Amino acid sequence: MGGKYVYDFEEGNKEMKNLLGGKGANLAEMTGMGIPVPPGFTISTEACIYYSANGDYPPGLADEIDEHLEGLEKNMGKKLGDPDDPLLVSVRSGARASMPGMMDTVLNLGLNDKSVESLAAKTDNPRFAYDSYRRFVAMYGDVVLGLKPETKEERDPFDELLEGKKDEAGVSQDNELSAEDLENLVGRFKDEINKRKGIDFPQDPAEQLKGAIVAVFNSWDNERAVTYRKMNNIPSDWGTAVNVQAMVFGNTGETSGTGVGFTRNPATGENQVFGEFLMNAQGEDVVAGIRTPLPLDKLRDELPESYDELMRIRKVLDEHYRDMQDFEFTIQEKKLWMLQTRNGKRTGFAAVKIAVDMVDEGLITPEDAVARVEPEGLNDLLRPVFDPVEKMDAQKQGRMVATGTKAGPGAATGKVVLFASDAHKLKAQDPDAQLLLVRHETSPEDIKGMAAAEGFLTQFGGATSHAALVARQMGKVCIVGCAALDIDYENRVVRIRSGDKVHEVKEGDWLSIDGTAGEVYLGQIKTLPSEVEQVLFQKTLKPEESEVYQEFERFLGWADNVRKLNIRTNADTPGQSEQAIAFGAEGIGLCRTEHMFFGGDRILAVREMILADDEAGRRAALDKLFPMQKEDFVGIFRVMGERPVTIRLLDPPLHEFLPHTEQEILSVSNEGGMSVGEIEERNRSLVEANPMLGHRGCRLGITYPEIYEMQVHAIIEAACEVKKEGVDVKPEMMIPLVGSAREMQVTREMSVRVADEVIAAQGVELDYMVGTMIELPRACVVADRIAENAEFFSFGTNDLTQTTFGISRDDVKGFMPEYLEKDIYEVDPFQRLDQEGVGDLMRMGVERGRKTRPDIKLGICGEHGGEPISVKFCHRIGLNYVSCSPFRVPIARLAAAQAVLEE
Ligand code: PEP
Ligand code: MG
Repeated sequence: MGGKYVYDFEEGNKEMKNLLGGKGANLAEMTGMGIPVPPGFTISTEACIYYSANGDYPPGLADEIDEHLEGLEKNMGKKLGDPDDPLLVSVRSGARASMPGMMDTVLNLGLNDKSVESLAAKTDNPRFAYDSYRRFVAMYGDVVLGLKPETKEERDPFDELLEGKKDEAGVSQDNELSAEDLENLVGRFKDEINKRKGIDFPQDPAEQLKGAIVAVFNSWDNERAVTYRKMNNIPSDWGTAVNVQAMVFGNTGETSGTGVGFTRNPATGENQVFGEFLMNAQGEDVVAGIRTPLPLDKLRDELPESYDELMRIRKVLDEHYRDMQDFEFTIQEKKLWMLQTRNGKRTGFAAVKIAVDMVDEGLITPEDAVARVEPEGLNDLLRPVFDPVEKMDAQKQGRMVATGTKAGPGAATGKVVLFASDAHKLKAQDPDAQLLLVRHETSPEDIKGMAAAEGFLTQFGGATSHAALVARQMGKVCIVGCAALDIDYENRVVRIRSGDKVHEVKEGDWLSIDGTAGEVYLGQIKTLPSEVEQVLFQKTLKPEESEVYQEFERFLGWADNVRKLNIRTNADTPGQSEQAIAFGAEGIGLCRTEHMFFGGDRILAVREMILADDEAGRRAALDKLFPMQKEDFVGIFRVMGERPVTIRLLDPPLHEFLPHTEQEILSVSNEGGMSVGEIEERNRSLVEANPMLGHRGCRLGITYPEIYEMQVHAIIEAACEVKKEGVDVKPEMMIPLVGSAREMQVTREMSVRVADEVIAAQGVELDYMVGTMIELPRACVVADRIAENAEFFSFGTNDLTQTTFGISRDDVKGFMPEYLEKDIYEVDPFQRLDQEGVGDLMRMGVERGRKTRPDIKLGICGEHGGEPISVKFCHRIGLNYVSCSPFRVPIARLAAAQAVLEE
């Protein structure tokens, strides 16, 4: 004897998903709750796993099935295959996790040429009997006997015969076919099976049942299911359960029907039933789109008692599961039967609203609420969105022409601009201009133009490319790596390849991008700003006027009560800092000073500094930059108040700041008094083969100490000034790209010397810190030594990923898509922290750093600091904070809370 493989619905409950699958466990649960569920039994996932491995039933299963079938027959007072009064059953798949539509189902099993006649006689409804039979033959033919289209072009053979029959009969709807038509159709179906498969349609119900069970087992490994499992990280050894259940019929006439629904609205979260149904139809008709279903409200007019019963059950389910349910039902001659329930998928909007409402309704605790909302879903509450009606129209009109990597969620529509400088100019001329920057890629010098655009679309680059990280930081919509683009800068036109068509989009033409979906649309689509933003930034909406905002605030308040990680932000300007604070940031974890070098006239002084021959020349140029940098810092300190502010000293290679075009070189030459030739010569001398691994980070500060000295001076003087205004500012100076203890020692000594001089001169008391980014593998290894001179570490996981993998973060497009496709990497390590490799180095850095300095402050400021799974990892390895772009702050707050609840 084998183990136990079969469970009556009375024997299970909702906790038994691993064994009974989601559908089976919930059918059992509903049965236990006294909800009307047609009786049946579940064959466990263990049986499927055995079958997958051995190609046969496990020992004892066949007997167990017989036993439970007998029980079901007794219960129903009918027998499977009884020629006079047959029991009919459905055979349905149901895995542990929901895999909608991926596996197989057979309905009306048990019918044959004899029993269909008795069914017709018994019900006095031949049309219903033959309708059920033709459905069964077609489903069985498809699922069990494998008669399906062999090519993409070929139509489903059964559909084709059905359509032919409708033409012959001169009707347009399936339910207009007569009993004779349907009987005739059954014959044609069987002939087709015989012709194409060389077998007779099985008449023996026992054979039918075994065939269907085996087919469902096999469907666990069909191509669709395998792909779906991969996409959703469902292990292949879970297997599917098989549910064998007495049939109830929605197709017996005008008092029968079938439908699907949600206990609450899955798009908005409103506490109102939402769903559709069809009268006189069987399950698959509702989703198959053959007839247009009606909204559930209308059921009240058709069958008021069934409607009332459904509303009662909706409430019972919602309260019992304490979560929104997605259900299926059938009404047979006014009697309502529930066929399925499960937690329903929902938008981020709905997730938050339902969670908050359920706390208010006393169904769940605030911790439950926090645990169940997908952090990324919060994006929905924050980002502009396309007007859903206009977007759908655009899709219908075939205006969706390309896709790319989703880099900044939300929706943007604007006129195409190909050069950042033009975007900046156009916006200056017309502040209402809506622009979309379309480029091969972007670079720091584009920053002003990027600020002027609604969104960016780039042909190259990955998730940590410049465009992507600026998008997240500025809260812009962005798609990168859109390979279908061909940008012709010279003729100022973008060609988009879409299938065998090429669409020409000229500069100034409208284009729309959905960064949440990664989709590019021709033309204009109306956008709507999020209410949360309208309250927090635009202040065009009062908090009390926005329910979404109030829910957002309350919900994140609960998350804040739970989390242990602090949440900081990556911000370079007072504006971004303000935004981040509104979103709940508790400090700045990364201020990239190089972005300030491009604002206003600074770039001229920066270039003068780089082009200078000697230290004296550089110092003269730096003197011009000093007051501007100081003002930037004053602005940021004022906004941040007593919150800590980590400012990174200059990081990128100097070459990035130099003029490159002829015109730029000319204007620098005019301003600075250097000849064009001299500038070109300097340009050449600074070119590096691998600038990311070249003369950058602390290497700049060590070889040109005057640059870092100016920056430290500006930071500390700004801090002193704001301190004098009565604010207890907390500046933290961060040295980039440190890889050796000595680098840290030298740059720290310099920073402390300058800072202390400034503090003494200003005559105030000021606490500050000096620390480093950990963004090289070697830095993790020698973290104990580096910590001797660093009061904090901030893991720069963009560079740490780049240097650990040996992959240039700007050059991933060539192979990353294929790597992901082929499962070489499970996910893009620039998007989600590679816990196994990069994460292990971080763990080492944490341990070694703390060994030297137990109170060292530890954080992360790479892009991973705003990615939920990475945030949870940061919690587990004991970081003190994560830092991310302003728009990801709420997501990080939630992920940090979930990290605690998952402990
Ligand atoms: C990093 O490397 O993770 C980082 C935050 O610095 P940047 O992206 O500016 O190189
Ligand atoms: Mg870096």
